Amino acid sequence: MIYLKTEEDLVFLRESGEIVAKALGEVAKCVQPGVTTKYIDQIAEDFIRSYGAEPSFLNYGGFPASLCISVNEVVVHGFPSEKTILKDGDIVSVDCGAKKNGFHGDSAYTFRVGDVKQEVVALLRATKESLYMGIEQAVEGKRIGDIGNAVQTYCQRRGYSVVREMVGHGVGRELHEDPEVPNYGKHGAGPQLKAGMVIAIEPMINMGSKNIIIGRNGWEVRTADRKPSAHFENTIAIRKNGAAEILTSFDHIKEVLGDRFI
Ligand code: MG
Ligand code: MG
Repeated sequence: MIYLKTEEDLVFLRESGEIVAKALGEVAKCVQPGVTTKYIDQIAEDFIRSYGAEPSFLNYGGFPASLCISVNEVVVHGFPSEKTILKDGDIVSVDCGAKKNGFHGDSAYTFRVGDVKQEVVALLRATKESLYMGIEQAVEGKRIGDIGNAVQTYCQRRGYSVVREMVGHGVGRELHEDPEVPNYGKHGAGPQLKAGMVIAIEPMINMGSKNIIIGRNGWEVRTADRKPSAHFENTIAIRKNGAAEILTSFDHIKEVLGDRFI
């Protein structure tokens, strides 16, 4: 069931989204060679709690941390760890959720660690651009398939592949609500978009094949060919007569990264 949000709900959803956006800005400050992913997780958790919010992912289905931190060929759901030390040339996807006043926000950004190969930077750029292609389609009257089709077309044209097993989702009182928002699809297919729908669009795009392997811990998702994968996510609200409203803007990350912002 798809829950349409009221203007009152949206006030809370904006607040949660803003906390997530700011938390990723804090993360941007500390992503560098030599830092452990556990440290990044702690920074974000402390930040989220300082706003009177709770990390959405902690204990979600048994997930052991506040952030999903996925390095290089890890697509999503990486466990923060003291053993995972970021090194020059890595890319690291940081997925963050926060809940306040009963409503969640959800966003992800893939950061560069030090100097990253140009071909990998191109993957990051295309994945982020494909997110905006999807957001452009997220207007009243269009359908979920229009979003997925825009993401898929944009990425496949550039030679990348779209992960099928994990998808975007509705966001509200639950972290994952209906509808599912795949990063592939057909024009005009799927549920129709209505004002008041709040969804997370989150392309997970692979440099090589689309095939993935789920790790022994039952969470960590890797590319089968071990080539890098990128992940960008925004929570957005479908509005009446016009463009979607982005609730988890990357502006805080941009402020921190300056010229290094992709
Ligand atoms: Mg997320
Ligand atoms: Mg999500």
